[in-house]
Amino acid sequence: MTNNSSTITRDGVIGYDAGEIVTIDPATGAEFARYPVAGKEEAAAAVAAAREVSGSWWDLGFEGRAERLRAWQRELAVSGEQGVALIHAENGKPLEEARVEVLGILEHLQYALDNAERVLGRREVPDSLTVPNQRAWVEYQPYGVVGVIGPWNFPLLTPGAILVEAVAAGNAAILKPSQITPGIGEWIVATWRRAVPDFPDVLQCLNGFGATGGALIEAGLDKLAFTGSVATGKAVAAQCAQTLTPVLLELGGKDGVIVAEDADLGDAARHIVWGSMQNTGHGCISLEVAYVVESVHDEFVEKISELARQVRVGSDENAEIGPVPLPTQIPIIREHIQDALRRGATATVGGPDAVGDRYVSPTVLVGVSPDALAATEETFGPTLAVIKVADTDEAIARINSGRYGLGSAVFSRDRGEAIARRLRVGMTSINDALVFSINPAVPFGGRGDSGYGRKQGEEGLREFAYPHSFTAKTGPAQFSATTFGRPAGAMAGALAGVRDRILAAGGTNAG
Ligand code: NAD
Repeated sequence: MTNNSSTITRDGVIGYDAGEIVTIDPATGAEFARYPVAGKEEAAAAVAAAREVSGSWWDLGFEGRAERLRAWQRELAVSGEQGVALIHAENGKPLEEARVEVLGILEHLQYALDNAERVLGRREVPDSLTVPNQRAWVEYQPYGVVGVIGPWNFPLLTPGAILVEAVAAGNAAILKPSQITPGIGEWIVATWRRAVPDFPDVLQCLNGFGATGGALIEAGLDKLAFTGSVATGKAVAAQCAQTLTPVLLELGGKDGVIVAEDADLGDAARHIVWGSMQNTGHGCISLEVAYVVESVHDEFVEKISELARQVRVGSDENAEIGPVPLPTQIPIIREHIQDALRRGATATVGGPDAVGDRYVSPTVLVGVSPDALAATEETFGPTLAVIKVADTDEAIARINSGRYGLGSAVFSRDRGEAIARRLRVGMTSINDALVFSINPAVPFGGRGDSGYGRKQGEEGLREFAYPHSFTAKTGPAQFSATTFGRPAGAMAGALAGVRDRILAAGGTNAG
């Protein structure tokens, strides 16, 4: 990294052919730092080094790895404020919000330390009556080299949680951070190297644009975890299909929240204003559309509009949301607002004028047409589209007919669980917002255009290991389905035995 204080155009930050990444301070547009871009050669060398070390990292066993993960956790805890400052500088989010990311990584590490062996360790499974005298068990073995391509909106927490799971499961991992936040990628790997000097290549960072991500895949990964936009996710999955490389895809979202007729409206408005505006709305799980039952619609709109007007935007220490670090997102946010207004919505807070050159202030759109962009496509800004519905059935149907299926929320005093269960999404918080992202024990992921696979929780650990099943003979074979020369009628006897067992369990067939 080199420092230089000259000012550059914001568009200079992105581009696929640049030989150097130039990051800017999103609050001012001033150049922050430069990073060399890794190409095919560097990607091949990183994968080779990771492959070289992956066997001995797995051979350490759970306790050997845990000892080093604990050292990494201590290092991150001690130097966390450095990471906070870098997140603030590269992404622009307030320092207190940046601290949430460091806290999150420490908690993910704790979950992995407490659970990796239980979840991924040897698991005995029952033997089969058909093949007696065989002990059977399952072990979860690492893929080997895992590539992690990350986004800029949660530059530490999002790829970091995946890195934790990948290395805890026994893999070596290579991070390709977003070109908007390359410094965080380098920082997380630097903390690893300080804490785990005997296995430095278990965690590596390759900086660059999309082409570097492509080079990393081409270099021959055993698994890829991608977090980013739907369009890039499809391109990445297509590239991985050429080598049948398994992929975890954490893509975009258009998360809906249902406000039922029995909701505590004050509480709902408080959680929803935060769930839709926090991190400047740059969250795959941001609440972007509120489906509000008509009997409580007007009161809810009044309450949430009042709260949205109070959100503090800026870069000083009182700011609650910061600038937009990705310049190309600004016209998208503006277009979604204008499109909603053209189709008959009104802005009770904000509107097109809320969208500036670097900062976007909160916007609440009311009376939004269900086919407006603000209701169907990811806005990724501090906006909330409110749609009045006849009842919660209509709200559920509208959410379920969307192309995404990541997070969601339901506000209802008595029917929260019943409503939530009918939503075809990966996660739902009841009478709160986004909390499933904070608990490392909760699997996180989507369906539809939001992608597939899971990070976090037991599923997240197993995402980075494959089951290897074992059977071991413990006594003489009675007979075997595959042994030639078995006694005549042996399989007829076995089939009769299984049939008798099934019938003895009772029940009748229809017709
Ligand atoms: P993006 O798709 O533009 O970029 C994501 C990453 O992919 C970057 O590191 C980029 O350099 C890389 N990339 C781009 N083209 C590539 C290619 N052809 N091959 C390989 N890598 C390539 O997304 P973004 O703007 O950085 O991130 C924002 C998006 O991420 C939003 O849609 C958001 O919803 C989503 N997101 C999802 C989650 C989740 O967990 N589901 C979390 C955070 C963000």
